[in-house]
Amino acid sequence: MPESSALAEHIGAAALIDQHAHGCWLQQGDRPRFENALNEANTEPLTETGFDSQLGFAVRAHCAPILGLAKHAEPQQYWERRSEFAEREMAGLFLRAAGVSDWLVDTGIGSDVAEISELGELSGNRAHEVVRLEQVAEQAARAAGDYASAFREILHRRAAKAVGTKSILAYRGGFDGDLTEPTAAQITEAAARWRDRGGTRLDDRVLLRFGLHEALRVGKPLQFHAGFGDRDCDLHKANPLHLLDFLRQSGDTPIVLLHCYPYEREAGYLAQAFNNVYLDGGLSVNYLGARSPSFIARLLEMAPFRKILYSSDGFGPAELHFLGATLWRNGIHRVLRGFVESDEWSESDAIRVVDLIAHGNAARVYRLGATGG
Ligand SMILES: [Zn+2]
Repeated sequence: MPESSALAEHIGAAALIDQHAHGCWLQQGDRPRFENALNEANTEPLTETGFDSQLGFAVRAHCAPILGLAKHAEPQQYWERRSEFAEREMAGLFLRAAGVSDWLVDTGIGSDVAEISELGELSGNRAHEVVRLEQVAEQAARAAGDYASAFREILHRRAAKAVGTKSILAYRGGFDGDLTEPTAAQITEAAARWRDRGGTRLDDRVLLRFGLHEALRVGKPLQFHAGFGDRDCDLHKANPLHLLDFLRQSGDTPIVLLHCYPYEREAGYLAQAFNNVYLDGGLSVNYLGARSPSFIARLLEMAPFRKILYSSDGFGPAELHFLGATLWRNGIHRVLRGFVESDEWSESDAIRVVDLIAHGNAARVYRLGATGG
């Protein structure tokens, strides 16, 4: 943001609530690990460099200066410089540079990344847990006795200390089909079947549906991975429009659609159609890089401004936690400056909307209390 205006200064200084992130690496790794982390969709080792992508270019543009390099440093130079730091040092540098006051952390993936408390310590800020429902299901499968009672007990115990829940239904068959609440008999039968099969990687639709309805009862915001992800997710079944029937049954519990690309317009419609639906563009913003301002502009089409949230979906290299914030700041500035310059919006309205998306909406939805900025 080269120019100085009240809007640019406000965006640069706004504290963010990153409402969906994971742990970052703390252990040294090799270059293939890093380059593979620049590709979300491909689950195999890359055969071409990960740097030749919007995300790779964005890392060189925005992360290189944090490591003392010139903007757009060459990949080899970036990798060599990166290797001079301990991974934990890298994490501290990038997490602090993100300007995030609160991290909402999904701990459902990765055992070799920072824990919630470490993310808080390394960034010097607060970190809160989001409980992944499919992980609760696996814990319930291993517990003694009735599955439904065990699931409820574990969910309530964990959710009491957490700010929300999360479902990866998109990765377990998708959103299409029946998402009504199953009967007690159906749950008992499905649980017995799943426990017999080992009780791992839950893909039983009855038990997935049961988990969602229990999460609605807890009443804390329920996040859904929607749209873009790795190829294990059937992308066409991760279109949030398939959730329409479920949303009609979802009552007042806030439902938060994550990532959304390439269905950000569908998600925006749902945010307008339901009082309890929210959306963010995490992950997508990082992968769209120089094209992310257009995506951010599309998020600002149908969705009411009090329904849009910020997240990075950072996981692995701490660059991603930082880059989400930097690209969002640059993108929202580009978009809102256009609205102000064409005199469609006043600058003070633009500043107010920045605060809503940066932290106001998330603080309200997750009941996080006062935050800075
Ligand atoms: Zn995620």
